[in-house]
Amino acid sequence: MIIKSAEFIISNSDYKKCPQDGKPEYAFIGRSNVGKSSLINMLTNRKGLAMTSSKPGKTMLINHFLINEQWYLVDLPGYGYARRGKEGREKIREIIEDYIMERDQLLNLFVLVDSRHEPQIIDLEFMEWLGENGIPFSIVFTKADKQGPVRLQQNIDAYKEKLLETWEELPPVFITSSEKKQGREELLNYIESINKS
Ligand code: GDP
Repeated sequence: MIIKSAEFIISNSDYKKCPQDGKPEYAFIGRSNVGKSSLINMLTNRKGLAMTSSKPGKTMLINHFLINEQWYLVDLPGYGYARRGKEGREKIREIIEDYIMERDQLLNLFVLVDSRHEPQIIDLEFMEWLGENGIPFSIVFTKADKQGPVRLQQNIDAYKEKLLETWEELPPVFITSSEKKQGREELLNYIESINKS
């Protein structure tokens, strides 16, 4: 897919106020600092489209970007951010869960996972919850460039093994690096294939 246009539309903390034109949506989610903003900027080829974690104040919101005037790329708040405190985390959880459960036009959720880390309980539990609720999702490993190819493959294999303890089948998996633009075509083609089906 060629990105001809990418435009910020609106930020919300309430799914009911998100765009109502029925265009298909693809949302990106992950723990804070996983590399979500970098990935969104890399996918859209727009350096400052999604604000990186160094910019405060954007973290509680659902951000809609209109791509090629056809579909929305949705930047969801990062979860499990320790500095927010329990109440803040609960609020974010509510925003995220309401959006995911209520948004009919959400066609796929991309769950971002740092390729350097061992499987984290918070991510595994979140995916479990998605499965229980029948939400289609894929796993996107980020920051692949931060380690050599052998280590990277070991980490990803370990992750898959952990998932197969509870899942019969693995969801689609993408390996990405925003630094190296790795995984861009694969992700965009995947979105295109869902858009067409
Ligand atoms: P967010 O909080 O999930 O939006 O994460 P950011 O996109 O702000 O990234 C967090 C940090 O990781 C920043 O310092 C980025 O420069 C760095 N980062 C993100 N993606 C990559 C990547 O693919 N490779 C490398 N080497 N660093 C990355």
